[in-house]
Amino acid sequence: MEHPLFIYNTLTRKKENFVPLNPPFAGLYVCGPTVYGDPHLGHARPAITFDVLFRYLQHLGYRVRYVRNITDVGHLENDADEGEDKIQKKARLEELEPMEIVQYYTDRYHEFMDMIGVRRPSIEPRASGHIIEQLDMIDKIIKNGFAYEVNGSIYFDVEKYHKKFNYGKLSGRVLEDLYNNTRDLDGQGEKKKSFDFALWKKALPTHIMRWPSKWGQGFPGWHLECSVMSTKYLGETFDIHGGGMDLLFPHHECEIAQSVAANGQESVKYWMHNNMITINGQKMGKSLGNFITLEELFTGKHKLLEQAYAPMTIRFFILQAHYRSTLDFSNEALKAAEKGLIKLMEVCKQFDKIQPESKSTIDVKKIESELYVSINDDLNTASLIATIFENSKLVNRLVAKEDSISAEDLGTFKNLIHTFVFDVLGLAEASSAGTSSEALKVAVELLLQERVEAKKRKDFAACDRIRDRLAEAGILVKDTKEGFEWSLK
Ligand code: ZN
Repeated sequence: MEHPLFIYNTLTRKKENFVPLNPPFAGLYVCGPTVYGDPHLGHARPAITFDVLFRYLQHLGYRVRYVRNITDVGHLENDADEGEDKIQKKARLEELEPMEIVQYYTDRYHEFMDMIGVRRPSIEPRASGHIIEQLDMIDKIIKNGFAYEVNGSIYFDVEKYHKKFNYGKLSGRVLEDLYNNTRDLDGQGEKKKSFDFALWKKALPTHIMRWPSKWGQGFPGWHLECSVMSTKYLGETFDIHGGGMDLLFPHHECEIAQSVAANGQESVKYWMHNNMITINGQKMGKSLGNFITLEELFTGKHKLLEQAYAPMTIRFFILQAHYRSTLDFSNEALKAAEKGLIKLMEVCKQFDKIQPESKSTIDVKKIESELYVSINDDLNTASLIATIFENSKLVNRLVAKEDSISAEDLGTFKNLIHTFVFDVLGLAEASSAGTSSEALKVAVELLLQERVEAKKRKDFAACDRIRDRLAEAGILVKDTKEGFEWSLK
């Protein structure tokens, strides 16, 4: 290939040429959601980042098997070891079965991911459907001497593992520091060392989500499911493992330890991590009052939001930053993204206005090369979008006949831009993607038609009532010669 794809490997801390283990196949595993709450901004970034990787690898001709799990085994609040089970807690609060919670939020997750243009993965395995495989992996780890049982729970022996291998190689954590930082905290309980982690936890009588094992009733530790489901569907070694940077430690560090302890080798060739989202410069958190769900974002119903934002605006906004940079959400930035997306869609439409000539004065090969160079530099969607905008000047010159292009080059140029914008970046017109904004448009137009009718009958009270009620709801109505215009405040 003329321009090879380079991706930043968190494990080696450098950009590496992507070469799959078994071309033309490419295996991609990404940690999916724990389904106990509504999808929020924090879900959108990894989903969109790895959706673009999935799309781009396919575009490059790879046969990609994309596995993204659903964490539906109730895990505990404190690093999978302590506290109440999150799904069970929600079930108790909402008076539902834990699996009703799981189904509801899995459906919500799909619904919202569809809205932001995230393609469904090839396989979406659930942790609860892989208990037998998880028990099997625990057996292997025990047999190899890296886990111990205490009172019906199984813990990974981090110190013993570290003597032979390197615990901390992915995150750069030093075991001694970890020990010093964690030994005084509560919750060590029955573990030998505070940094040991649970592979299997004995279920207390109140714990609902439980499965039988030779150590009694219990449930698997959170880290285990990803080691098990990634290798089950992608093989003992596979190409790419992705996820948010918040999962790097302990989750992914523990995944490496489990795979090595069970199989004697690491399973992942390239580790990729997307950076986090901040809101007005602050970390997002329920306690900070800046926790925004996707539904709130699409309807504008959150105290920090000045308006509703279409799902495609959110996608475009996320793609405007490189996935390894932090990304700050603010109304100004989102409004700028809204305008940016409209502008990008305009660029795509401009091609139909270009009249081909007998020969080209522009170099389409050079444009093609610039586009691939941008995205091949560690999936730099920010740079790719900037390159498309730079070339939009050329498109304008072609429309204005200040430059000329042959029919063949025009076809290539248009196809290139359209492929990158629609297929690789997965963008679309903002209005066609957001069902909520489409529905709003239909409802407002219908009301305003009623108002036109009222005006014809000289029912001015009804006219004013409709206008005032819409104004209260944040919709401004302006009378024009043709009838009306409306906009969101
Ligand atoms: Zn995971």
